[in-house]
Amino acid sequence: MATRSYKDADVAGKRVLVRVDFNVPLDGAEIRDDTRIRAALPTIRNLLDRDAAVILVSHLGRPKGQPNPKYSLAPVARRLSDSLGKPVEFVEDVAGDRANAAADRLHPGEVLLLENVRFEPGEEKNDPELAARLARLADVYVNDAFGAAHRAHASTEAIARVLPSYAGALMLGEVEALQRLVDSRRDGFVAIIGGAKVSDKISVLKRLVERVEVLLIGGGMANTFLLEHGNEIGTSLAEPDALDDARSVLQLAKRRSTDVLLPTDVVIAPGIDSDQTSTVGANTVPADQSIFDIGPETIAEFVKRISAAKTIFWNGPMGVFEKAQFATGTREIARAVAASSAFSVIGGGDSVAAVEEAGVAGQVSHISTGGGASLEFVEGRALPGIEALRGEQ
Ligand code: ADP
Ligand code: MG
Repeated sequence: MATRSYKDADVAGKRVLVRVDFNVPLDGAEIRDDTRIRAALPTIRNLLDRDAAVILVSHLGRPKGQPNPKYSLAPVARRLSDSLGKPVEFVEDVAGDRANAAADRLHPGEVLLLENVRFEPGEEKNDPELAARLARLADVYVNDAFGAAHRAHASTEAIARVLPSYAGALMLGEVEALQRLVDSRRDGFVAIIGGAKVSDKISVLKRLVERVEVLLIGGGMANTFLLEHGNEIGTSLAEPDALDDARSVLQLAKRRSTDVLLPTDVVIAPGIDSDQTSTVGANTVPADQSIFDIGPETIAEFVKRISAAKTIFWNGPMGVFEKAQFATGTREIARAVAASSAFSVIGGGDSVAAVEEAGVAGQVSHISTGGGASLEFVEGRALPGIEALRGEQ
């Protein structure tokens, strides 16, 4: 079922409530990275150009249903105003009297940012009463917060059932790219999964192992698979509780003839801050050392598979890439994905950061703005924030 596009909404002279994802990393009141603010600009600009009055609503952090100045969106209003080159009014209220008054005063072509929607206890409960109060602020609803689409919250789901509702530009781009990925043929489909833990990503692993031709596993999660194979992994991060999960992924792979590649060599050290690194075979890690990256032989094999791919999905770094001495595996995989002519999608906060650090983000077909949301999409699950924007209104 098609997702309704905001381009088809009649917005001239109307007030449009836009759910954005302004959940930016903060250092006090300092915005450390404004990627998410910039990502929302195309939709906001388009609506302003079409003479809409734009009211923005977002969450920031986890204030747990209570006002908390630490999580105020006030700094975001200032940064957004700089990016847009026009004033952005900010109101210290989500959907009460002050928000109503500010929305009433708003003219076409003007922008208002509401306070953090998670200051309202009804937000995470998908409360219809909060959705009704938000709906009173506007005539039309646009959801551009892909990163929050896997949550059924009042500002992402319930509200879309009240107002005429549409997907914004960022949301449409995510749906198009991720749907293309999900619909890709198994032939030539290579998935690269890494990151810290198997338990975080077990459902996507189980799904992908049936959907892809080759599954490359690196990062901390590979340790649990190595353990399952009976390897000595010293003091490496591993999850004994996830051994059954690892085993069932490998059984599914066998049944579907999926190639699952684990690291054959690894970079080890006595501790995460140590420069005393060495490279050893994945089955010969000394008892007092830990695995922190994939080794050169593994990189070469993974790169070979990536170069031959027609479709690539990557989530999760190959090692502790935050430390220079363990960043090589992740950087080389990033370069290989960028150099490939395959349709490539990268999701996950840390993986995206790693690709940007490697300076190759521009050569990837699609970089998803949503970590958890992109994983759930790839798992084939229905995302409530997107479902609410589908089909006939
Ligand atoms: P993403 O945000 O891309 O989904 P994750 O959050 O799942 O990725 O995992 C990223 C984290 O995994 C990073 O902080 C990285 O340091 C850690 N990690 C990767 N490999 C290892 C390893 N071998 N041992 C410990 N931690 C690891
Ligand atoms: Mg992460």
